[in-house]
Amino acid sequence: MRRLGRWLLNGFTFLLLVLCIATTALWILSFRMSNAFTRAESPTMVESLGASRGDAAVVWIGLGTPTMPSEVHWTYRSGPPQDIGTGLTGKPTTDLRFAGAAYLVGEEHFFGATFSYHFLIVPLWQLVLLFTILPAVRFFNWRRRRLLAHRLRAGLCPNCGYDMRATPDQCPECGRSVPTALIRNSSA
Ligand SMILES: [Zn+2]
Repeated sequence: MRRLGRWLLNGFTFLLLVLCIATTALWILSFRMSNAFTRAESPTMVESLGASRGDAAVVWIGLGTPTMPSEVHWTYRSGPPQDIGTGLTGKPTTDLRFAGAAYLVGEEHFFGATFSYHFLIVPLWQLVLLFTILPAVRFFNWRRRRLLAHRLRAGLCPNCGYDMRATPDQCPECGRSVPTALIRNSSA
């Protein structure tokens, strides 16, 4: 069970690492071009996942109630970079903003038609940061454990690295005492 947990945690960390690299690449790319995957249920609604000018966005646009069976289209589009949401003219009815992220809900009128929209905009650097936390913590833990094991194996103080071979019970430099069980464990 513990092994399974460790295995899952490793898999999750690896996934985050991949996401981190992919998001960083997308972030850099987003200043050169915009990219969007769109799923359209014509003629009733459009869902889109895209990135442009440093931001990622999930967009949902409703074009009214269906009057006929809808058809689903998947499209990928790229274009010149632009700020997400700049095409909106009206004032959103919901406008939540936090540290560069935004959630906008509203309605737009366009050539006599009305459509409703939801925009969720998140700066890509925030996603990069989010994906980095766990891998970074685990990397530093792993390095610390490795250093500790190395020091114990080499007969050095786990705390300050001072040579403890002459005084295995207590470090003459920092006064740290090392349980013998720990020393035996690390050499196993
Ligand atoms: Zn010491």
